[in-house]
Amino acid sequence: ADLAAGAGAVPLLPVVGGDLDIPLVGGGRTRHVNLDYAASAPSLTSAADEVARLLPYSASVHRGAGFASQVCTAVYEDARAEVARFLGARPDDTVIFTRNTTDAVNLLARAVAHLPEGPGRVVVLDLEHHANLLPWSAQHRVVVPVRSTLAGTLDALAEALRAEPTALVAVTGASNVTGERLPLADVVRLAQAHGARVFVDAAQLAPHRRIDLAVLGVDYLALSGHKLYAPFGAGALVGRADWLRLAPPYLAGGGAVRDVSLRPPTAVPSPDENGPSPAENGPPSPEVTWADVPARHEAGTPNLPGAAALAAACRALAALPAGALAAHDDALRARLEGGLAGLPGVRVLRLWTDADRDDTGNADTMDSDTRDGHTGDTAPVGVVAFTVEGRDPDALAAYLSAEHGISLRAGRFCAHPLLGRLGASGGALRASVGVGTTAADVDRLLTAVREYLTTGP
Ligand code: PLP
Repeated sequence: ADLAAGAGAVPLLPVVGGDLDIPLVGGGRTRHVNLDYAASAPSLTSAADEVARLLPYSASVHRGAGFASQVCTAVYEDARAEVARFLGARPDDTVIFTRNTTDAVNLLARAVAHLPEGPGRVVVLDLEHHANLLPWSAQHRVVVPVRSTLAGTLDALAEALRAEPTALVAVTGASNVTGERLPLADVVRLAQAHGARVFVDAAQLAPHRRIDLAVLGVDYLALSGHKLYAPFGAGALVGRADWLRLAPPYLAGGGAVRDVSLRPPTAVPSPDENGPSPAENGPPSPEVTWADVPARHEAGTPNLPGAAALAAACRALAALPAGALAAHDDALRARLEGGLAGLPGVRVLRLWTDADRDDTGNADTMDSDTRDGHTGDTAPVGVVAFTVEGRDPDALAAYLSAEHGISLRAGRFCAHPLLGRLGASGGALRASVGVGTTAADVDRLLTAVREYLTTGP
């Protein structure tokens, strides 16, 4: 109750650029209000400090004998362990550093396409970000349309699983458009009942809720550092090692191999004894023994500052008091959604009529400390998309930026099928919050939208 009373009043954690002073088009300056965390969140100061701490040691990870290189290798492997801890990975899970979530999904999709028994069938819902829709190749991807209720959507998923053997159910942890969530523990139970594994695109869930893979029984998870309060360039794929161990390397190159030798060219008998010798028939070809995971999928010099900053962000989030992250998010989401829904002509986009919601605007955060497998907490996260009747989303977004210094996103949010389903093919606006957001930021948006509706162009 103490947490809920003050939740959202002040930033939960300090972020870089939280007090950025920016010019307004009509003259004057204002404090920047960043309500576009879902695209890229500002870095925690602790994550930025980690980058600065490491730069003097610039040296190769895994490849150098010198002191700086040893430091870099240790920091990189510690970062891997930190990410594993943060996500409740099982001892035999692997953590593969990637560039971002998109990269991680493509990596897993490649593994699923090369399962020993043949390409696995993958079931996805049509609410997904393109990153969790397009990488699953058309040959093995089945797209299930969501229904107007969450319960109906789970039924649709069950039907798809009953229809044919399935290797993987790939779902978002939280929609990047509506912030709504599937009950992951239920999805896992359904998938397991049909012998399928579960992949969670946690790009939007991880910044707002704690996740525990072991508790939930989720097999694979992907996230992006730049949405998890770390700088750009690093993400992770975490989960069961076996499929990833069997997959062809995601990238071929140094660091992903155990041994490379050059196989002599195949001798092609020459009809003419004065013809070319076998060695001249063609170049020798490399024979490769690939490394085990995670190195197998991490060819090339890794992004050490990215991985270390991502781990620093995980550390900071893990150190928060139980329930604080969810309480902060719930309070701001409720203020944002409730405030917007109260404005004339504003429609907040929601997928499900029966999703966990409290029409007083107060989400129930009682138990949300929130290993969500335990609590069944499926309250939507702090991502709210909306349309304004008769108004162009791009024009409103441009007005908010130019006149009020407020950043949010307009468009179709890399989820075109979902925007179509929500009746917003022409685009929408999206406001999203995070650990650096305050209730005052949300109020600035509400005031500015109200002003636009009464006096704007
Ligand atoms: N999945 C979801 C739900 C997202 O919101 C995003 C980015 O907006 C992605 C995947 C892709 O993330 P990235 O661009 O970091 O690869």
